[in-house]
Amino acid sequence: MANSILQDEKQCYFCESQQNLHCHHIFFGANRKISEQNGFKVWLCMDCHEGTNGVHGKNGHEKDIELKQAAQTAYEDLGHTTEQFRQLIGKSYL
Ligand SMILES: [Zn+2]
Ligand SMILES: [Zn+2]
Repeated sequence: MANSILQDEKQCYFCESQQNLHCHHIFFGANRKISEQNGFKVWLCMDCHEGTNGVHGKNGHEKDIELKQAAQTAYEDLGHTTEQFRQLIGKSYL
């Protein structure tokens, strides 16, 4: 189980709350396991995770994309290429 490549602190990625934290896999569904293996995950508070404006909420699309772009950027900063990311996740977000 890899640590998050985006966070050191255990707090909400968006609002820094330390209450009601959930572990969110940035590429979920079919790519959840890949997220687990590569540390594509962040802590989110309940609102930023499952609220209306949360990543899984109906108005949360921008947050979702922001996390996906941040994860890809961090992955490439570790020395991987965009092509390697594309092979892993299926598409590039940058
Ligand atoms: Zn939050
Ligand atoms: Zn989630």
